[in-house]
Amino acid sequence: MPGPRPSRNRLMAASAVVAATAAVVAVTSTAGASGSKEQAQQAVKGGLAKNVILLIGDGMGDSEITLARDYTVGAAGRLNMDKFPMTGAYTTYAVHADGTPDYVTDSAASGTGWATGVKTVNGRISKTPGTDKAVPTILELAQKGGYATGSVTTAELTDATPAVLASHATDRSCQGPADMAKCPTDTIAKGGPGSIAEQSVNHKVDVLLGGGQQRFDQKVTDGRYKGLTVTEQARKLGYQVVTDDRSLKAAKGDKPVLGLFAPGNVPTEWTGKPAALGGTAPQRCVTSNPSRPAGTPSLADSASKAIQLLEAKQKANHSKQGFFLQIEGASIDKQDHAADPCGQIGETAAFDRAVKVARDYAAKHPDTLVVTTADHGHTSQIVPPEATPPGLSSTLVTDEGQQLKVNYSTNTPGQSQEHTGTQVRIAAQGPLAYRVLGVTNQTDLFTTVREALRLR
Ligand SMILES: [Zn+2]
Repeated sequence: MPGPRPSRNRLMAASAVVAATAAVVAVTSTAGASGSKEQAQQAVKGGLAKNVILLIGDGMGDSEITLARDYTVGAAGRLNMDKFPMTGAYTTYAVHADGTPDYVTDSAASGTGWATGVKTVNGRISKTPGTDKAVPTILELAQKGGYATGSVTTAELTDATPAVLASHATDRSCQGPADMAKCPTDTIAKGGPGSIAEQSVNHKVDVLLGGGQQRFDQKVTDGRYKGLTVTEQARKLGYQVVTDDRSLKAAKGDKPVLGLFAPGNVPTEWTGKPAALGGTAPQRCVTSNPSRPAGTPSLADSASKAIQLLEAKQKANHSKQGFFLQIEGASIDKQDHAADPCGQIGETAAFDRAVKVARDYAAKHPDTLVVTTADHGHTSQIVPPEATPPGLSSTLVTDEGQQLKVNYSTNTPGQSQEHTGTQVRIAAQGPLAYRVLGVTNQTDLFTTVREALRLR
């Protein structure tokens, strides 16, 4: 069935941004970026998309982007994520149970916002704020619409961002069958859908790549898979299970793929000294983490393989539909919480290489909508080298030979540093990309993807 035609209003909105687009193109070309005129024209088209690639930098506010830019390509350089033809900002607030705003969100509530179009309370996974009822997710709608679907992360596959796409849970902590304390009505024994791990494989998402093996090693406690681990349940459901880059490379698109590359979060790419009270001696980051096991796929490699698998699946099924793929750089957030600037910048750089994979694919497949955004802002701030701020600080020495001082003071030293309630960047290319212009709400992203893929 053909999708709805773009409305007259939308076409008018599209033409209204053409002038703005010309300015954007001029800016990106003087900056030496690759935002071509063709890309910009594609971005304002009211046309529909065959594929959507959504990249979420967890906790990647403007400070996190700027830190990664300064350290890796220089203050006047441009990251891949800086090269989109369309850039706007969106608000990320959560809500309380009565619907009033909660100004600082976590990844569960913000993910529920972009994945379902409905704002919820902090900690909740794709369920309503007051009544705790499941709301359909963009991945579920894409599956129903005949699209191949995938989710890739550097966190546990049961962590909030991948969870909001493939599960519904009262609380984000209900990751494996043994973790159900805060989700009494979600258990299989009570007639619920089970833990986030069980739901994710029951959903038969075509490609699931990330960490969190410890959740999938837990035994199912009730129902038809009782006594099996979730990984064994996944195999019964037809999944190929892969654990390193060699087995990932060998996976084929004819069966769904579950990649579990670490017991918990995938280890970070970089290390360094964490920020300290009164600051650190000037340091350079260590760009290969000795405690990252050999054979751990990079986010970019996982992204690239995920695209290949999703395309192969649709080809094998002779489907005319494309795919929906989410790619999360999760540990930008986690290293921000830990006040570890090198860990954080290395994860932002790794995420940016995954952005390049998506943009390179879209360059050859212009009917692909690529959106890069964050779920919420975070704590790191760039302060003058001579500043003596409260809280934790570290001084880095950049490739430009300059001191880059980072401060973390959104919580008492020794405690996890906090998210912030700031708006964050959203950037896009491809069909309907103009929808990210201006200041939008996180829930608008759901509508953009739904309309781009003609989902009901
Ligand atoms: Zn966080």
